[in-house]
Amino acid sequence: MPASGDSSREPATRQRPVEYHGHNAPPVSDPRVPIALRPASTASTPARSRLSADGWLAGAARRPSPNCDERPAGADVTLVVVHGISLPPGEFRGDGVERLFTNRLDAGAHPYYASVAHLRVSAHFLVRRDGRVLQFVPCVRRAWHAGVSTWQGRERCNDFSVGVELEGTDTRAYTARQYHRLARIVRALRTRYPIAHVAGHSDVAPGRKSDPGPAFEWRRLRELLGVGPRARARA
Ligand SMILES: [Zn+2]
Repeated sequence: MPASGDSSREPATRQRPVEYHGHNAPPVSDPRVPIALRPASTASTPARSRLSADGWLAGAARRPSPNCDERPAGADVTLVVVHGISLPPGEFRGDGVERLFTNRLDAGAHPYYASVAHLRVSAHFLVRRDGRVLQFVPCVRRAWHAGVSTWQGRERCNDFSVGVELEGTDTRAYTARQYHRLARIVRALRTRYPIAHVAGHSDVAPGRKSDPGPAFEWRRLRELLGVGPRARARA
């Protein structure tokens, strides 16, 4: 990805719908519509930010993962990628995700694990069903969460995004606590980074990834972020 970053800035007083490009455009009727935010006011009292200068969120339980590296020089963090995950799929209370993200998943512990235990992946955050937040990678570093991906013509979304996993599945409702925590994370990120969009993994890797799935209610996150019911894309 060119590390120059998209420096286009929207007027502070208006929010525009996301502008979709080419084959990445989801159908207008698709409920999984990414969120466009006003340009983040990174100068807004960082001293009071819940996100430390080195990228750790206050209140999050730290589970440092080796599955990360340096962001490319000059890569602005402009995107939040929302994921959904559970290990084993559809089972919620275990420590499978935590183990996967820290390379401690026992391939023999569950039939499904053999297919994923070798992966070297991690998001920055995991929001559990009860709202508890785990952080694996400081936001200043590049976590390996999105894989092959494109957002608005920019490839390798890991370079310029923060990845937030919600414990869940594509089809089961996420919890109210998860929406609130996710919104808090996005707000904290915006005190440090010029976050311009929140999108799903399925938006940056269409056809390859389906999470966070139709169960994720973008309208709900929009309301929590104060963005309003902006649900229509202009192709
Ligand atoms: Zn994902």
